[in-house]
Amino acid sequence: MDVGARTDVGRVRENNEDAFRIAAPQKLYVVSDGMGGEAHGEVASELAVDTIVEHGVESLAHPAQPLSGPPNSTLSDRTNRLASAVRLANAKIHAAGADHPEQFGMGATVVAAWVDADHLSVAHVGDSRVYLLRGGEFRQITGDHSLVAEQVRYGLLTPEQAENSHYSNVLTRALGPHADVEVDAAEYPLQPGDTLLLCTDGLTRMLPDAVICKMLSGAKSAQEAADELVEAANKKGGNDNITVVVVRALPGPVGDPAEEPRKKDPLHDTA
Ligand code: CA
Repeated sequence: MDVGARTDVGRVRENNEDAFRIAAPQKLYVVSDGMGGEAHGEVASELAVDTIVEHGVESLAHPAQPLSGPPNSTLSDRTNRLASAVRLANAKIHAAGADHPEQFGMGATVVAAWVDADHLSVAHVGDSRVYLLRGGEFRQITGDHSLVAEQVRYGLLTPEQAENSHYSNVLTRALGPHADVEVDAAEYPLQPGDTLLLCTDGLTRMLPDAVICKMLSGAKSAQEAADELVEAANKKGGNDNITVVVVRALPGPVGDPAEEPRKKDPLHDTA
């Protein structure tokens, strides 16, 4: 895995309420966008990323650890564990709001991606996104939990109308507001050469998908891609905090025949 990440306050906001965590050896990647008055959005997003990484990493050492919420029998143990971690993060943020009245109402989005050999598990709540770039095809694999995205899904708005709507920042789901949350979880086969992008809306509101795809494809490394994306979003105005995590599944595992020195061909090699 080649991994790069960057978070930036942007050009307008005073606080950075975004957060990310990378557990490199466990191949677990999490991005969160916090909301709430004062510095409470920061508290919420930090709680989200910390809880998910802690629960995920601990579960590898203690696989019998109970899940938070009911497992989905159509998904792998790994994906169920990731959804469980997101539900725990929701419970923690909700409880923090109840224990500290000044933090009441704080919330966060979250996207989490976990790689297990050639499988990718994804779980999310809110309008932060995961994209997959594979062989030139660039696709958002999470569905935004926002009012306008729901309206697009029901055919009530076009994607263009959604982008220009005054309600584009209204979320239909977030971590924190309620004791329970519905988590979207899914899994995909991961192929060598695939690139994943986890990001907050501070990136996707500033840059169209086609521009993001071009930068991801053209960068020499995941870190270079992360830096270029943040700089480009800032050049477009940087209206919000910007956070990106870029993960590239490197092609050619050790021993891949394509990587080995060419064997002598008895028919053509004369020396
Ligand atoms: Ca944001």
